Amino acid sequence: MRRIKIGIPRALLYYWYGPAWQVFFQELGLTPLVSGPTGKAILDAGVKTAVDEVCLPVKVFLGHCLTMQTRCDRLLTPRYISVNKDEFICPKFMGLPEMTRQAVGSGRQLIWKSDQHCHWDSLKALPPEIISGFPRNRVMKSLKKAKAALEAYQLLMQGGLLPAEAEAALLQGRTPERTEGGPLIGLIGHPYCLYDAFINLGAVQLLQGQGFKVMVPEMFPARQITMELRNLSKPLFWTLGQRILGTFRLMWEKGVAGVVYLSAFACGPEALISEMVKRESKAKGLPLLKLDLDEHSGEAGFITRMEAFLDLLKRKRGYSCV
Ligand code: SF4
Repeated sequence: MRRIKIGIPRALLYYWYGPAWQVFFQELGLTPLVSGPTGKAILDAGVKTAVDEVCLPVKVFLGHCLTMQTRCDRLLTPRYISVNKDEFICPKFMGLPEMTRQAVGSGRQLIWKSDQHCHWDSLKALPPEIISGFPRNRVMKSLKKAKAALEAYQLLMQGGLLPAEAEAALLQGRTPERTEGGPLIGLIGHPYCLYDAFINLGAVQLLQGQGFKVMVPEMFPARQITMELRNLSKPLFWTLGQRILGTFRLMWEKGVAGVVYLSAFACGPEALISEMVKRESKAKGLPLLKLDLDEHSGEAGFITRMEAFLDLLKRKRGYSCV
């Protein structure tokens, strides 16, 4: 019997939940099909279909959906509004399934939700087609495996692996070769800005190529980030923003030479966080380079600014790396 293919767009919260989603569908006997890395065709498709006001990461998400919809039977469109108590992701995530339906013109969506009343790993968060189409025991068992996969994935990243490396180690048993050493540099931003090498013009590889060891937010446990922010006069209720500010502080404590902040142009929640990060960078004397990503980001200008910043760090600290 032909196995049903579930399309999973490699965009937005894929970089946090992708391995768990794949394990869940596999355990149910379905075939998860993850879209390929972002490229020009995907970006162009998303830009063409989205309204202008939408941020770059959402356009990229729509591009992935458009380019993979004919290869799958169902398309996963998560509605992850909240993944932690009293915190929220971003208003754009609320209407993501509707935006996708509008863009893709397909009713073959699987909407997996997570909000204040039902966490992503609960039965009622799952797409109704899954709940009604499979025995409850089997669904619960698959959810349990997905949750364990997520925990293992997070532990691998906290052990120093980048998300793509952790995913390969978890799902394919491929352990990456580690090249130790090099001065530490922080890279902060939303996961879909940091780990999509097409939209950030290969930022991680560029930093590594210059001899730096890259630290990213996913290398810190959530509870450590919460502790780090406990002295804020008012708690931040954007989960993604908390990660940025909390890990900026933790990276400073770890002695990074500087921090590169990749932000999505036209991102509402980031307007506040980026201001807080800038102020803290000044107060701590920690060099910060903030780069905005949009569909018009030019490679030459981006790389020149990044290289100038790295040269400055090397001179300031007397590093002799490449
Ligand atoms: S947090 Fe910002 S970048 Fe992310 S989806 Fe929302 S508006 Fe877009």
